[in-house]
Amino acid sequence: MKKITISSLLLLLLISTNLNLAYDSQESGIKNIIILIGDGMGMSHVQITKLVYGHLNMEEFPIIGFELTESLSGEVTDSAAAGTAIATGVKTYNRMISVTNITGKVTNLTTLLEIAQVLGKSTGLVTTTRITHATPAVFASHVPDRDMEEEIARQLIAHRVNVLLGGGRKKFDENTLKMAKEQGYNIVFTKEELEKAEGEFILGLFADSHIPYVLDRKPEDVGLLEMTKKAISILEKNPNGFFLMIEGGRIDHAAHENDIASVVAETKEFDDVVGYVLEYAKKRGDTLVIVLADHETGGLGLGLTYGDAINEDVIRNINASVSKIASEIRATNDIKRVIKKYTGFELTEDEINYIEEAINLADEYALQNAIADIINKRVGVGFVSHKHTGAPVSLLAYGPGAENFAGFLHHVDTAKLIAKLMLFGKKDIPVTILGISGVKGDITGDFKVDEQDAYVTLMMLLGERVDTELERKVDMNNNGIIELGDVLLILQES
Ligand SMILES: [Zn+2]
Repeated sequence: MKKITISSLLLLLLISTNLNLAYDSQESGIKNIIILIGDGMGMSHVQITKLVYGHLNMEEFPIIGFELTESLSGEVTDSAAAGTAIATGVKTYNRMISVTNITGKVTNLTTLLEIAQVLGKSTGLVTTTRITHATPAVFASHVPDRDMEEEIARQLIAHRVNVLLGGGRKKFDENTLKMAKEQGYNIVFTKEELEKAEGEFILGLFADSHIPYVLDRKPEDVGLLEMTKKAISILEKNPNGFFLMIEGGRIDHAAHENDIASVVAETKEFDDVVGYVLEYAKKRGDTLVIVLADHETGGLGLGLTYGDAINEDVIRNINASVSKIASEIRATNDIKRVIKKYTGFELTEDEINYIEEAINLADEYALQNAIADIINKRVGVGFVSHKHTGAPVSLLAYGPGAENFAGFLHHVDTAKLIAKLMLFGKKDIPVTILGISGVKGDITGDFKVDEQDAYVTLMMLLGERVDTELERKVDMNNNGIIELGDVLLILQES
C-alpha cells in the first residue's frame, strides 16, 4: 500500500504544474545537468589510476574544487547522508535517504531531480550498484533507512524517473514491476535488450544485486559507458533538457575490500564515462557537468616509505578481483596456481604461509584480506581501514555556470549552486532586505512574493530548522525545515 504523506502530495502537485520561470534555459545557456559521482573516490584513487593509465579525462576539467563531506553523524559520512547533501542541499544523519529528523519527525527533503521534473526536464539515474543503493536512491526516493530497498524501488518508479539503469533486480517485487509496466516503462534485463530499448521510460536491471566488478565481467555483462550512452540518447529528446546522475558505484566497494586493482579498474571505467560526457558537453555548450565523490573510502595511501616507487605494473597484470581470487582458492585449494593465474606473480614461501593461516581463521574475509595485503605490499600502497574516512574529495566542473564551483565547498553548497543555476540561470538576483512583512513567502519585506524571496531562501536559509518568525515566513509547506520545496513554492507564487 502506498502511504501518501503531505510532502509527497505537495511534490505531486508541483510536478503536475510545470513552473513557468522568468528565465528560460536558452537565455541562461543551461539546459542539461549531468552529475557524475565516483562513490568512495578519493584523490589517491584517482592518482593511482593515473599512474597505471598515464592520462585521465578528469585532468581535462577547467574548474576544480574541494568538497567537505561530513554529515550530522560526524566527520565520517556514509553514501546516504553524503548523497542526501548532494541531492537536497541539506545535511542529514547517516543511513537517511533524502529525509531529515531534525524537526522531531521524519520529513522529506526535495531533491535536484525533483526540481528538474518541475522544470519539465527528463530525468535519469545510472549506476553500477543496485539502482536501489544509497547514491541513486537519494535523488528520487525518501526513506529513513537506506536498507528499505524494496520501498526505494517502488518510489523510484512512482517518481516516474525516465531512465533507471543499474543492478538490483531482486529488490523489485512483482507489484513494483507491475506498476512500472502500467506506468509505461520498457523493462529490460540484458545487454541486447538495452541496445534495442526505446521509449520515454526505461527500467534496466542487469544483475540481481550489483553489476560485477569490471575485472570480473563477462562479455554479456553491461558496463557503465553503454548505460550512459543509452540514457543520454533517450533523455536528450526532451526539448526542455534533462537531469542525469551517473554513479561509478563500485569504486567504494573495491576500496572497502582494499582491492587496489579493482579500485583502479572501477575508477578507469568511471573516467571513460567522464570523458564521454565531457565530449558531449563540449559539442553542445548547454550542458553543465559536475564530477565529484560522495566521500573517500579506505584511507588509501600511495607509497609506504620515503623514496619508494609505486610498482603499478603489478596492478596492470591483475585480471580478477580479490574476492574472486579468494573464492577460487577456497574451491580449489591450489593457492600458488590461482594467484599466478590472476596476478601473474609467484608467491614467496612467507606469502604462502600468510594465506594458509588466513584460510583457517574464522573471519570469512580473512582470506581475501590476506590476498589484498600481499598485492598492496607488492604495489607499494596501503589502506588505513576497510571503512570510509572524513578526507575531502575533489570536484570538477565544466559548462555554463561551472566557474561557481571553484573553491572549498561542502556538498550542501554544491547542491545549492546547482539548484540556483537550474532555477535562476546565471543571472545575479539583487536582494534588498527591507524588514518583515505579514505576507507568507515574503522574506525581503516588500509585501510581494517574488524571485528575490526565493533566491534569499535558497542561498541563505536552505537547511535551517524553522525557529524565527522570519524563517516561518518562507517555510511554505510548514514542515519545520527550509528546503528546496519551499523555494519552489515561493517561485510558484511569484
Ligand atoms: Zn562505502
